[in-house]
Amino acid sequence: MTTEAMPNAYRPGATNLPARELAMIERRQALLGPAYRLFYDRPLHLVHGEGVWLYDAEGRAYLDAYNNVASVGHCHPRVVEAVARQAATLATHTRYLHDGVLDLAERLLATLPAPIGHVMFTCTGSEANDLALRLAFAATGGTGLIVTANAYHGVTQAVAQISPSLGPGVPLGAHVRTVPPPDPATGDDRGFGPAVAAACADLLRHGIRPAALILDTVFSSDGVFTEPVGTLAPAAEAIRAAGGLFIADEVQPGFGRTGEAMWGFARHGVVPDMVSMGKPMGNGYPVAALALRPELVAGFGAQARYFNTFGGNAVAAAAALAVLEVIAAEDLQRNALTVGGRFRQGLSALATRFPCLGAVRGAGFFIGVEVIRPDSGLADGAMAARIVNRLREAQVLISATGPQGHVLKIRPPLVFSDENAAFFLDRLESVLATAE
Ligand code: PMP
Repeated sequence: MTTEAMPNAYRPGATNLPARELAMIERRQALLGPAYRLFYDRPLHLVHGEGVWLYDAEGRAYLDAYNNVASVGHCHPRVVEAVARQAATLATHTRYLHDGVLDLAERLLATLPAPIGHVMFTCTGSEANDLALRLAFAATGGTGLIVTANAYHGVTQAVAQISPSLGPGVPLGAHVRTVPPPDPATGDDRGFGPAVAAACADLLRHGIRPAALILDTVFSSDGVFTEPVGTLAPAAEAIRAAGGLFIADEVQPGFGRTGEAMWGFARHGVVPDMVSMGKPMGNGYPVAALALRPELVAGFGAQARYFNTFGGNAVAAAAALAVLEVIAAEDLQRNALTVGGRFRQGLSALATRFPCLGAVRGAGFFIGVEVIRPDSGLADGAMAARIVNRLREAQVLISATGPQGHVLKIRPPLVFSDENAAFFLDRLESVLATAE
């Protein structure tokens, strides 16, 4: 992401840093080059994680309210054990028969609606979305794509072209149209289906056949829009009426995070044609996938072969299976629903006392809190960045999102407890008391 799109990114010279940290940043810059960004005015040097806690090189503990990858908790012993056991037994790929990837596919399909019947494995969410586009082009004969105005769908050439949040330096493809996210405050929730229909009509007017509408079903990079449920169905209808497919990008909301459902689309009562997933799937082990209606890969599969060297390898499958087992065994979806609900209430209570906080949105453990100028109610990205950085100093980790970077993005591991939420609210209150 560009620094502009990442308002809390480290800016060289913005803070006086100790010589050791500066040396590490310079070494990193020299070795990794200029495209990487670090979080926070004072970057974190982390060395260890456990549950909801991350520890820096000095042994300080930070409450992690941001990392959805380690979704069942950092270094969860059951996942670590499953990965270690499989790595010590066999690490091969999907060109050999192996039960692990089949058990995983079965387990995943059981969580998805009936029309979805196949799973294809990748290593990253970007690859899953890239594959979704290839299959959508092949199945529909179209190339037109519709995304939201500040969407992010990944790093390959094809998906960077449908990721407006990367900023003007990464131009959208000529075959791409954007629609505003379904924000109830602007009425764009009611207008969401019609906006998709209009985007389809515009593609057709330019001689481009629509292939797919692809949506992050919690609209995380657009600023977190989770209500009202039901807004996705008219949009899916509109793309299908124009001959295209509906792809749910579940990389952010999937695996129980919203509390109300295993998948973000399910909250909206809509059935996608394809579902991409990744990030939390292996609790840190790189594993991702695309689930889809079998008809959509029939023609492609007859003519082309699919092989992803590491996608669905035996160790990846063991990691993902362990994650699914832990989510069920520890009832983590319900934890996201109940603790997440109470946590949002706590945040809303703070918002009534601190006028720089606006709308509190979200579902389960996917929470967005608007930061606004009290006088005008307008977005205040600079204040949001200040809050994020001060929370980091107070040993609580979050980030900010949305086109203006003014929405605090709070997305803790699913094992986050009421006690963790109380700790968070206490630190946030202190930060707000001094930041305003
Ligand atoms: N889709 C969405 C909605 C994402 O948030 C991301 C990652 N931030 C991706 C796709 C890409 O996933 P990955 O980084 O694993 O390639």
